[in-house]
Amino acid sequence: MRDVTAVMWFRRDLRLGDNPALLDAVAAGDGQVLGIFVLDPLLWERSGAARRTHLAASLRSLSKAMGGNLVVRRGDPAQVIPAVAEEIGARSVHIGADHGPYGQTRDGEVEGSLKCPLVVTGSPYAIAPGRIMNQQGRPYQVFTPYFRAWLEHGWRQPCEPPEQVKWLSVKGDELPDGAADDAGEQAALDNWRAYLDDVARYDDERNRPDLDSTSRMSIPLKYGELHPRTMLADLARKRSAGAEAYRRQLAWRDFCADLLARNPQAAWKPLRPEFERMQYDEPGALFDAWKEGRTGYPFVDAGMRQLAESGFVHNRVRMVVASFLVKDLHVHWKYGARWFMQSLRDGDLASNSLNWQWVAGCGADAAPYFRIFNPVGQGLKFDPDGEYVRRWVPELRHLDGKNAHEPWKNGGADGYPEPVVDHAEARREALRRYDAIR
Ligand code: FAD
Repeated sequence: MRDVTAVMWFRRDLRLGDNPALLDAVAAGDGQVLGIFVLDPLLWERSGAARRTHLAASLRSLSKAMGGNLVVRRGDPAQVIPAVAEEIGARSVHIGADHGPYGQTRDGEVEGSLKCPLVVTGSPYAIAPGRIMNQQGRPYQVFTPYFRAWLEHGWRQPCEPPEQVKWLSVKGDELPDGAADDAGEQAALDNWRAYLDDVARYDDERNRPDLDSTSRMSIPLKYGELHPRTMLADLARKRSAGAEAYRRQLAWRDFCADLLARNPQAAWKPLRPEFERMQYDEPGALFDAWKEGRTGYPFVDAGMRQLAESGFVHNRVRMVVASFLVKDLHVHWKYGARWFMQSLRDGDLASNSLNWQWVAGCGADAAPYFRIFNPVGQGLKFDPDGEYVRRWVPELRHLDGKNAHEPWKNGGADGYPEPVVDHAEARREALRRYDAIR
């Protein structure tokens, strides 16, 4: 008789600790598990260099933690997973749920072509999409009541890593190349625990890109190097306004995933249908100026250059650059969202599209459309000494303090463009277009 074995198909859970799907695989395989990651060409092609590099580094780290036994195969998961399961005579294949539109279809296809069960345990969220309903049994459309219900619902405690696993191996493809100091489960845990010491400051400082005081945990969360459950358990031991504010942000992440799972079309289409009629301009030279950080608005340009150079942008700046694209340049948010997905290391369809929709005023939890960010005012408020702008826009380094936000008032700057649009005029035009669809 063949040994009992199981397959653990890693996807957005590149870790061994606090991984219930892995525990199930170990139990089902009587300790003998084949761990696999499928390099799906469809997803790989769509990811930009920043995401590919982090993924590669994270896979290398996971494989090391498995004694070098992570199997990586390229191809269509609907062919790769059943083939591998048959090769080792697996009793079951184990996964954490993927609630995204592509993941749902893909997992359905894999299940259809497998000869053994596909067992789904857990999700990348504190509370899985679809769980939280209002008293009428309907999903929430607005964040604040969702958040209240989220707190009331609660989440499980983290679980321990499996004690003894005999990792099986079959022939795989080469691991992709890529190195990043902060990739992998151990780095994620170390960085998180170091950040926790400072979480009390989060409430006051989280909107200040110059202070660089947010956690950057969106990156390990994206790849599942760390589960939000682990973070929430640690936060529960901290009693500060900062810890509470941080917990609320983790609920935003769950809320975005919940909205996308229930409205898969929201990845690229507005949740509020009247916005289908909104008049946008074709993305042309102004869109290129935005992507390259050459709009002549220092706070916007600093953000877009930070994105291009580092694959990361502070949340406040994401909101300002997104608003600028949609409401000052009148370009459809989907082009900006696509550029973000290509450039961000934490690029995540649910958080990205739903936040873009929020800024563009067409999301479920719509910020009033007429509340349009002033790109200079936002800079003066959240980067009061111009530090952030000077860090990313070298042409402005000769301007001290807040003068860096308004080079046109301070003698200009060599090689730095004039503003590509007049904000007051662009704002009026945005409101005119909004009036036409109301
Ligand atoms: P912290 O301030 O330390 O927050 C802690 C965690 O809370 C984050 O790691 C993240 O998981 C979660 N979080 C915080 N704010 C939000 C939010 N508004 N929505 C959802 N989750 C949140 N986040 C992504 O993870 N991937 C994306 O592709 C993405 N695209 C965005 C696009 C736009 C236009 C905007 C306005 C926001 C986007 N966000 C996205 C949300 C947010 O900007 C990032 O999660 C955050 O900046 C990451 O930095 P941090 O980990 O230091 O955040």
